[in-house]
Amino acid sequence: EDLDKGLEKTKTGFFDKLNRAVAGKDTVDEEVLDELENVLITSDVGLETTVKIIERIEARVATDKYVNTTELNQILRQEIVNLLAEQNDVDYEDYVLPPVEGGGPAVILVVGVNGVGKTTTIGKIAHQYQQKGHRVVLGAADTFRAAAVDQLKIWSERVGCDFYAKGMYTDPAAVAYETTKYAIDNHCDVAIIDTAGRLHTKFNLMKELSKIKRSITKALPAAPHQVLLVLDATTGQNAIEQARAFTEATDVNALALTKLDGTAKGGVAIGITDQFQVPIRYIGVGEGINHLQVFNKKAFVDSLFG
Ligand code: GDP
Repeated sequence: EDLDKGLEKTKTGFFDKLNRAVAGKDTVDEEVLDELENVLITSDVGLETTVKIIERIEARVATDKYVNTTELNQILRQEIVNLLAEQNDVDYEDYVLPPVEGGGPAVILVVGVNGVGKTTTIGKIAHQYQQKGHRVVLGAADTFRAAAVDQLKIWSERVGCDFYAKGMYTDPAAVAYETTKYAIDNHCDVAIIDTAGRLHTKFNLMKELSKIKRSITKALPAAPHQVLLVLDATTGQNAIEQARAFTEATDVNALALTKLDGTAKGGVAIGITDQFQVPIRYIGVGEGINHLQVFNKKAFVDSLFG
């Protein structure tokens, strides 16, 4: 229900355009395909992924000559599910901890630029894990902004979980290390570590994140178990550029797309997971503590197509 509401704007935008593209047409010809391409691009699916989808539909239309515009809808839906399935092979029905090899707490490193909803997403995930009876600690490794540390602390109090921070301007890698140690010593099930979203240069970003990752691994060999990149869906093409920078800088293996409720750019989810080959784990559909959903490709496409 939240998902339907969250994707309402994307859906309306998408279908208005799609309906206009196929109006008065009874077969899928070149013109319809061109229009469909426009619809996908203006829905922020991204050029590469759009081309891929159009080629697949073209192939279907070529083998099955009598495809009409109603069937086009079905084909498009199926092709989007197929495409999403390539990166999102497992559909989680619920919040599960990342698998931990060799025991110890699961360590989740959260990356992304400021303002995308990183802190809120961490709070929402912590809440869900706590609800399941897991012991959670949040680590404030964004030591560059006092507000970031304060906000994270407020979330830990709201959620009722543990919190680890050092002073401002302390080494983020040290905080990450100590948070992991804290999680081990205090028998936490999961440590979620916030980082600064400073996208100064790709080289510096890479250096900063590598250092943080190495210090976590020093505290616990198989960690971090998940590197979660948070992206703001309302920023469309900017989100794609951030995905590019962060996936090049570090091994991102999970995505959270926030603010889908405020945007018609939900199509960006399809493009990002396809282009950067990272599964979407969460989608944010509001500011409330429960407004984060575990990504499920079928539910997502169902909501998109109504
Ligand atoms: P950070 O700087 O990346 O840590 O961003 P914050 O977590 O502080 O979030 C920035 C703003 O985005 C806050 O006002 C949040 O309430 C809001 N926000 C975060 N996620 C969502 C979402 O899924 N939907 C909506 N509508 N707002 C969100």
